Amino acid sequence: MLEIDGFPTIEDVRTTLPSEERLARGPVAVHECFQDIPCNPCVASCPVGAISMEKLTSQPIIDHDRCTGCGSCVSACPGLAIFLLWKKGEKAQVTIPYEMLNAPTPGETVEGLDRYGRPVCEASVVRVVRMPSLDKRSKTMLVTLEVDAAYMLDVRSFRKG
Ligand code: SF4
Ligand code: SF4
Repeated sequence: MLEIDGFPTIEDVRTTLPSEERLARGPVAVHECFQDIPCNPCVASCPVGAISMEKLTSQPIIDHDRCTGCGSCVSACPGLAIFLLWKKGEKAQVTIPYEMLNAPTPGETVEGLDRYGRPVCEASVVRVVRMPSLDKRSKTMLVTLEVDAAYMLDVRSFRKG
């Protein structure tokens, strides 16, 4: 629970999810930023204006129909609190911000982990991308994993074998 250990619950996460129809249409950004902190690089990073905020300390609001799934906000968020989701029938793609040196390679099988770092399922690496960012020093990569759709809301990290 957020107030106790800093991790959102699945109920928290469900409050920011797109519709099932949007999740099936292609990659879409979801945020897990549930605290009123003074931060807004996600808003500035979006090329189509899909992220808004009432004031600097408000939580972001993502217009899922406007979002093109470009991943710019995933790379720009200093809290690593934005992900891309794409539900593809029985499978789902989860795009995760990654800042470790040992980047995985596409095709590699890794262990999908939950928000606490607990193993959830096997995941296969689909893409590894370094985004151009407003902050040229950013080293945040985007790693896209494919997992069973049942684990789409659980897998938020991974461990290389
Ligand atoms: S994924 Fe791209 S289009 Fe979607 S909200 Fe993030 S920056 Fe905007
Ligand atoms: S950039 Fe990340 S941490 Fe900052 S407000 Fe946006 S989602 Fe939250």
